[in-house]
Amino acid sequence: MRYLIQTWGCQMNTHDSEKLSGILEELGYAPAESVPQADVLLLNTCSVREKAEEKVFSHLGALRRLKEQRPGMIIGLCGCVAQQEGEGIFRRSGLVDFVLGPRAIASLPSILEEVQTHRNRPMDLGRRDDSIRFDGARARRAPGTKAFVTIVEGCNKACTYCIVPTTRGREISKPAGAILRESAALAEQGYREIELLGQNVNAYRDGDVRLDGLLRMLQHIEGIRRLRFTTSHPAHLSIDIMRAMRDCPTVCNALHLPAQSGSDTVLARMQRGYTRLRYLDRIERLRTLVPDIALSSDIIVGYPGETPREFEESLLFLREIEFDQLYSFIYSPRPQTGAATEEDGVPMAEKEARLRELQSLQQGIQRKKNRSLIGKEVEVLVDGLSRQGQLKGRTRTNRVVNFDGDPSWVGEFVSVRVEAAGPNSLEGHRIARVGS
Ligand code: SAM
Ligand code: SF4
Repeated sequence: MRYLIQTWGCQMNTHDSEKLSGILEELGYAPAESVPQADVLLLNTCSVREKAEEKVFSHLGALRRLKEQRPGMIIGLCGCVAQQEGEGIFRRSGLVDFVLGPRAIASLPSILEEVQTHRNRPMDLGRRDDSIRFDGARARRAPGTKAFVTIVEGCNKACTYCIVPTTRGREISKPAGAILRESAALAEQGYREIELLGQNVNAYRDGDVRLDGLLRMLQHIEGIRRLRFTTSHPAHLSIDIMRAMRDCPTVCNALHLPAQSGSDTVLARMQRGYTRLRYLDRIERLRTLVPDIALSSDIIVGYPGETPREFEESLLFLREIEFDQLYSFIYSPRPQTGAATEEDGVPMAEKEARLRELQSLQQGIQRKKNRSLIGKEVEVLVDGLSRQGQLKGRTRTNRVVNFDGDPSWVGEFVSVRVEAAGPNSLEGHRIARVGS
């Protein structure tokens, strides 16, 4: 019996797919090379923006012919669309055999058995703590250099545009002991980098252990040379976390800190819980403690009622901070969120024009920042081959670097001299292998 999982969305979903793979392999399934070969096909979905959700249903439409030819093939719909739509999925698509929410991952064996023995169309949207209790060591991670470890599930914030609290539920942290054991096992398996995951990872709490304490504990795991954590919420980025970033040699000098907007009035309408000045203050402190920190962020353009002036404030904010990388999106109304009912007089064409303007400004900033690295030496963890057949990897600041070298160096640290730079990546020449 063979399985295939198709994944949309964030790192958390990627890691959830690794957990689902682990469970299926424990049940004796082997990975399929392509969709037509799969006996079980799981669609692990994202519903953060409407487009991601639409993609899932159009993808399901494209599977109709295959399912007619192979009626025994089981199709499971997992992830945030599953949680959001629940029973509605069965009405929308006759192809789906079961629905499994992101908190119900551990129920996959029983739900599969129910489909196979009773030919029911079961659904499990899970309990609050099911997913965090899942032993991450059972996940079937892709072989490589970097592994994800979930430390916080759910989110207690109430950002008005965001569906995550509805789909992923209330915040819950994984016990520190379990995180340390999982990380030690990953080091044993040869992973050199760990990325700790949570929708609001800064809210991590296990008794007295907060994120800063956890980062310090993880320093003792031999073999783990790089540690990252995402996603940080600006209102929860404490001085203690910044100090841990400064003190812990394995914590990378890179931070993703989504701002969402540079306008105080929009931030207030979004209920983000900070102002532009407070965000700038956090960054100033962080840059003082970790001077070579690389910062990335998320910005939403065209939030309901965003005025030209409010948009200008976001542009000004980007010029002021000069992020090393930015993800920007047009606001997408989501069901059961506060913003979806807000008056929005901004036409889509105007939102698209704003997004283009913001992205072009950011591209210029990134090109300038990356060019300033030409001639410098960077440490690259090689994670694979580029499409052009060069080695590719990332710096500690999370920049992509391509350079010529031997494919046997994948998984190793290499010192590279930067020779050319575009807005999204660097080109370089290797100086020395630093080891694995
Ligand atoms: N928990 C993280 C945070 O607080 O930033 C990330 C949540 S979400 C998966 C990732 C990004 O998607 C957000 O930072 C936001 O910029 C964007 N996003 C979320 N909801 C959105 C919406 N309704 N429309 C457009 N972008 C959205
Ligand atoms: Fe969504 Fe806000 Fe929670 Fe991030 S912090 S997941 S944007 S509600």
